[in-house]
Amino acid sequence: MMAGVCDNSRRHPTIMATTVKPFLIGSIVRDTSGNAGVITSINPADGSIAGQVVRATPEDVDTAVRVAWDAFRNKPWRKLRPDQRASILFEIGRRILAERESLARLQMLDSGKPYKECMNMVTSAASYFRYYASVCETWQNEVTSPRGEYFSMALAEPYGVVACITPWNSPIMNEAQKAAPALAAGNAVIIKPSEETPQLALELVRICTEAGLPEGLLIALPGYGEDVGAALVKHPGVRMVSFTGGTETGRAIGAIAGQRLIPVGLELGGKSPHIVFEDADLDRAVAGVMSGIFGSAGQSCVAGSRLFVQKSVYKKVLDDLAARTREIRVRLPDDPEVQMGPLVSAAHRDKVAACVDLARSEGGSILVGGNMPSEQPFDKGMFYMPTIVDGLSNASRSAQEEIFGPVLVAIPFEDEADVVAQANDTVFGLAAGMWTGDYARAWRVAREIEAGSVWINTYKQSHIATPFGGFKDSGIGREKGLHGLRLYSQVKSVFFGM
Ligand code: NAD
Repeated sequence: MMAGVCDNSRRHPTIMATTVKPFLIGSIVRDTSGNAGVITSINPADGSIAGQVVRATPEDVDTAVRVAWDAFRNKPWRKLRPDQRASILFEIGRRILAERESLARLQMLDSGKPYKECMNMVTSAASYFRYYASVCETWQNEVTSPRGEYFSMALAEPYGVVACITPWNSPIMNEAQKAAPALAAGNAVIIKPSEETPQLALELVRICTEAGLPEGLLIALPGYGEDVGAALVKHPGVRMVSFTGGTETGRAIGAIAGQRLIPVGLELGGKSPHIVFEDADLDRAVAGVMSGIFGSAGQSCVAGSRLFVQKSVYKKVLDDLAARTREIRVRLPDDPEVQMGPLVSAAHRDKVAACVDLARSEGGSILVGGNMPSEQPFDKGMFYMPTIVDGLSNASRSAQEEIFGPVLVAIPFEDEADVVAQANDTVFGLAAGMWTGDYARAWRVAREIEAGSVWINTYKQSHIATPFGGFKDSGIGREKGLHGLRLYSQVKSVFFGM
């Protein structure tokens, strides 16, 4: 290993950098001079280099926190009138949309997601800035009626410097979901994107600066979780942490935040139940189940990965599901016909393969898939075929542990009480879905299910104004909507004597 250059060979092969993207800490340019290491992003479609960025270090965390506090205190942002802040946030949204195609292409190279999915992700990123621009402009503080000699008001105040740590599954959208409300609330924001997909966060910082956001209010540190992420969470200058990622990482971050007595927002993993009752429109249900698990190649926190089908229609539904799953077009991400692309990395694909091996060893039978494609051009990429496992109970590890890949575990159930008990028998509580023609039953089941989002005769729909987050081990706090703004605000009560 070269002196001072990071060893990222456990994730990526050693590659000599050609153009390595620098990152900015306010006006400080961190390029490859000195002992800077490099993070190499690999294109999951074929294993080629998607890009290289300078690798941030824990020392950069210290510098970033100082620069962000300076920007928070001294740059025109938190004290701007809400309409002035809103106009910059609107402009950021406009510029993201204007660069939609190049951003989507970069996202596709970094993450392997199909190009059309990336276009949707970039559009969503723009929507977060537009939505929080309008909310920021119209958000009301609470004022009490005068009580003789005084009146009081509750003011929403920013925390100061907040850290946002994001996963790899929806780069730029994950970052925008946090940065837009955090900035709208008046904070300075330090983003630590996933080391698997480091490039989009740097583009977001560039776009924000070009749109008029003062330097230092948004900083992206492309580093690894165990050093840069951990240093951010521990840094005394970071007043709030917003994290999206795996449950065990979230637990570790929550423990440190608990010690430090700082607030956290935790958006974590899931193993969401997807229920098909015998009275459902089975054709629509099967289509919903397929997009619920195979969309984004199952790399979605809300993937409907545990399928519960009522016994009377179990065989019919599974037969149809298996036949239609065999027809899924697994293609390169830029193929216009693609329905499912590769997984994010070789390591993740191997983890998914190991999970399917576990399902086999637990006694599951593989109805469809259960293999990596070996033919060209897929042999070079991180592909895994859509997979359905039958014959396991809800108590199996395959039904209890998050796989985060295109693997569906199907389980029969007797009746409403049985399926509610099985659906809730999990440590997770992120989302759930059901298909039924009986809306009274849908309402009863929705009330009984322990999950932050419940879909009835639809799946994976989301709305920017509808809160999102998890029950149980799937998280703490809510993003989106007004909850998203509250997450990044603390309340100050001010009393005026007369
Ligand atoms: P991960 O937990 O491995 O990493 C997430 C982020 O945390 C990365 O940026 C990583 O570098 C950082 N990190 C790792 N260790 C850290 C530490 N000790 N301190 C601080 N930061 C650290 O998750 P992942 O593999 O990137 O993403 C997949 C997971 O994310 C899945 O479990 C999925 O369900 C979850 N997810 C949840 C949501 C949600 O909204 N609930 C959305 C997307 C993904």
